[in-house]
Amino acid sequence: MGLLDGRYAIVTGAASARGLGKATARLFAEHGATVAVLDLDATAAEAAAADLGPAHVGLACDVTDKAACEAAAQTLVRRWGRVDVLVNNAGITQPVKIMGITPEGYEAVTDVSLRGTLYMSQAVIPMMREQRSGSIITMSSVSAQRGGGIFGGPHYSAAKAGVLGLTKAMARELAPDNVRANAVCPGFIDTDITGGMMTDEMMTTVLSGIPMGRPGAAVDVAGCCLFLASDLSAYCTGTEVDVNGGSLI
Ligand code: NAD
Repeated sequence: MGLLDGRYAIVTGAASARGLGKATARLFAEHGATVAVLDLDATAAEAAAADLGPAHVGLACDVTDKAACEAAAQTLVRRWGRVDVLVNNAGITQPVKIMGITPEGYEAVTDVSLRGTLYMSQAVIPMMREQRSGSIITMSSVSAQRGGGIFGGPHYSAAKAGVLGLTKAMARELAPDNVRANAVCPGFIDTDITGGMMTDEMMTTVLSGIPMGRPGAAVDVAGCCLFLASDLSAYCTGTEVDVNGGSLI
């Protein structure tokens, strides 16, 4: 028996092969959920969904586009009749320092995390309220808590701190309808977003700040999302869960 048997879940930014979204979608599917993979490119989203099995759906959806979020949610509600879980995972970063942030870069980074989380959540909240159940999980970052990391610029830290506030506000407002909202704060996780940019020297520096002495794996984050998506976390809302190997101790 799976922890998500009979549940319907949407994961944004889940087409990236080694990404946190894909690992989360895979674990949800293994636990019985029917999953929709949303990402920028339709072919990539469809291929990622097909990897999970025939029941799953891949859709193009740019989460910074409110109309696209609503269209994707409506398509899925028509098909499934309900939405139980939303994982706001899509995110981008830029490895720049404070004076290197351009207006375009600021908008790009903050739009995906902040507008994306707001628009996609707004698209599923009416259905979750009507069902009187739902779990919204939003990917923040240790960068929000520490004021930066090795890759994320200050605008990334600000965007990821912003989604913590948004998550808590949603949790407070939606709690009477039995809709929960929680955030996950990954530390340094080995994915394409991080792996491609690492020199040996950078890796040594990063690992020296992680008491567990290793980067996280995507499945470490997926496991936390599974907990927050399932009834195991039925009384958890407005929380931020750290998945960082002890980086903040
Ligand atoms: P990734 O780059 O592998 O995957 C991100 C996915 O988001 C990609 O598939 C990309 O196409 C998609 N995407 C980008 N913009 C989008 C948009 N506008 N609409 C829809 N999809 C969009 O990244 P990842 O490492 O798997 O990171 C996933 C999330 O976790 C991000 O929010 C990231 O900020 C966060 N995070 C990652 C780490 C890490 O160490 N990898 C640490 C902390 C937080």
